[in-house]
Amino acid sequence: MAEIIDGKSVAAEVVEGVKKSAATLATHGVKPGLAVVIVGEDPASQVYVANKSRTAKECGFHSVQHTLAAETSEADLVALVEKLNADPAIHGILVQLPLPGHIDAGKIIQTIAPDKDVDGFHFINVGKLATGELDTALVPCTPFGSMLLIERKHGKDLSGLNAVVVGRSNIVGKPMANLLLAANATVTIAHSRTKDLPALCRTADILVAAVGRPEMVKGDWVKPGATVIDVGINRIPLPDKGEGKSRLVGDVEFASAEKSAGAITPVPGGVGPMTIAMLMANTLVSAYRHAGLEQPGF
Ligand code: NAP
Repeated sequence: MAEIIDGKSVAAEVVEGVKKSAATLATHGVKPGLAVVIVGEDPASQVYVANKSRTAKECGFHSVQHTLAAETSEADLVALVEKLNADPAIHGILVQLPLPGHIDAGKIIQTIAPDKDVDGFHFINVGKLATGELDTALVPCTPFGSMLLIERKHGKDLSGLNAVVVGRSNIVGKPMANLLLAANATVTIAHSRTKDLPALCRTADILVAAVGRPEMVKGDWVKPGATVIDVGINRIPLPDKGEGKSRLVGDVEFASAEKSAGAITPVPGGVGPMTIAMLMANTLVSAYRHAGLEQPGF
């Protein structure tokens, strides 16, 4: 049976490290500032934003939340982001996605100052990651956190290991592949047009699933001893348990995959907790950079 990679405890360690580094920064008179902006009343987004703001406070950050009405205009949102760009007390800006349909999310992301773009979605940060400029980039939180879990198992140098990333989104799949490549893994990106996905997955020493399809990756797709990182978060209904009951599952069929894998992340409790922890890490790193101090590593 596979070792279960405990994302919750690794995330807690990251948050502890962030708290300590934030305390050190305070001796230089700097408090990391995170501004989270939410537009509209999407219930899932409300929960994510509340968790982010709460964790920022726990880390000793200056935590600001802007909650805007669903009908807020694109121009008003741009104006708010520009104001936060110019605010010296703010080191990280996160605009919660999705945005209402009348707002161009791409335009808003490109309005965020790249050195405060703690989601790592601005073209400048995407380009830095793609060209290996990791010392000055801000890296998207979910792949950054997934990479930390992989490092715990394999160390920082993945030379000689085959990695397969299933999913090519800009938020997870592509940045994940770039991080693995930067760590010397031999990387293949798979997607919905890939031929014989099970056979390809069986070549992976490190298999990352970021698909958004409940339990798609089966145990017999997993090479014996492989490390499996399940990024998926899917809520599936459980009508047998009563009306409205559901449970969270990943993109990997955990029960069969854990029999073959050497190590595997559970859902929940794997990659999920890492995402918020890395948002804190990115905000801290940004504050160190703005203060002209050497940034802590993670
Ligand atoms: P996305 O933008 O929908 O991308 C999904 C990717 O999977 C696409 O590249 C798509 O291929 C590929 N795909 C879909 N069906 C496939 C199939 N049958 N075979 C092979 N590839 C297939 O999703 P995302 O934003 O990357 O998110 C992926 C998952 O991660 C979701 O479950 C999401 O909830 C979860 N997630 C978790 C966190 C976290 O904090 N843990 C954060 C972000 C996302 P094409 O490009 O060809 O369409």
